Amino acid sequence: MIKTRVSPATPESLLEAAQLLKEGQLVAFPTETVYGLGANALDPDAVLSVFAAKGRPADNPLIVHIWDTAQLDDLCEVPRLAHPLMEAFWPGPLTLLMPRKETIPDAVTAGLDTVAMRMPSHPVARELLRVCGLPIAAPSANRSGKPSPTSSKYVYQDMQGRIPLILDGGDCDVGLESTVLDITSSVPTILRPGGITKGMLEKVIGPVNVAGSVLRPLKAGEKALSPGMRYRHYAPKGEVTLVEGEPDQVVAAMRALCTDAREHGLKACVMCFSEHMDELHSCDPHDLGSIQDPRATAHRLFYVLRQLDDEEMDVIYSEVLPPDGVGLAVMNRLGRAASFRTLKAPDVISRYGITL
Ligand code: AMP
Ligand code: MG
Repeated sequence: MIKTRVSPATPESLLEAAQLLKEGQLVAFPTETVYGLGANALDPDAVLSVFAAKGRPADNPLIVHIWDTAQLDDLCEVPRLAHPLMEAFWPGPLTLLMPRKETIPDAVTAGLDTVAMRMPSHPVARELLRVCGLPIAAPSANRSGKPSPTSSKYVYQDMQGRIPLILDGGDCDVGLESTVLDITSSVPTILRPGGITKGMLEKVIGPVNVAGSVLRPLKAGEKALSPGMRYRHYAPKGEVTLVEGEPDQVVAAMRALCTDAREHGLKACVMCFSEHMDELHSCDPHDLGSIQDPRATAHRLFYVLRQLDDEEMDVIYSEVLPPDGVGLAVMNRLGRAASFRTLKAPDVISRYGITL
């Protein structure tokens, strides 16, 4: 087993990380979205070891990270539409699908003819990319199927013994993975929503579609446009259920559900907005941030999902956000964490005979 070191990002540890990457080894590093697990994108063996370390299915392609647009020419064709988007959102949490060139190994794209490209803005990620001078293929640094890590603690939990080095850069800012935009389709299409919203993209390039499977499970036989968007993803071990309705009804319904689960001997809790923490104090509430601030919820969501595993929760009831703006990205991840199990608060209230 490899010994895994967690090291603060210093000029020395960045040099060491760059050297490891050049030798074909893996290094985890912070980005503004979540922690990434990096490998030299031009080295097929290094890329295959990313899949092995994560337990990731080989048909789920990786994102290639660069620090300078001058690197693009060797790696992909750059559609005209890419230019205003790169101008507006790079460096930052936007991934663009572009037609790949031969230099990109098949393992990176899972054999697809597009490659996902991103220029992260986190200073540690940028410095690492600059010092090593290579394009770096990096998925999120979690074991496949688990919520993405937003702090080095959770990278260590998943990657201990599997990789030599984790660069620590504190907590990630956005907290959800990048927006993935396909600019090779006739109308640009969001395959995975993230911190760069549909509205922000449309201000720059006009109409943008959202892939149908963003807010629902894939239908039987439906092809995932973005292979990573499949059904069981982002899930904690406990069973998450979403509760929808007016705030008062949701609070009463979650309280009844939580009490009932505990009476059945289960370890139960709720995920709720800061505004409801007091009312739900008897339900071991986990704070999703203010209902007024979807970016705060995005920032906290994976952290809270990871906490639920640390606490060995069996059953979790969660509030929901309207799926607009950053709320779309939050509901995409939360929906999948819950396998889209949803209850309507009024139904719950009448089932338990509650009067408000
Ligand atoms: P992660 O690396 O964990 O952030 O996941 C990367 C996401 O980008 C996954 O959802 C992938 O399926 C998606 N992705 C990467 N490359 C492509 C591609 N060429 N076509 C479609 N989706 C892609
Ligand atoms: Mg991931």
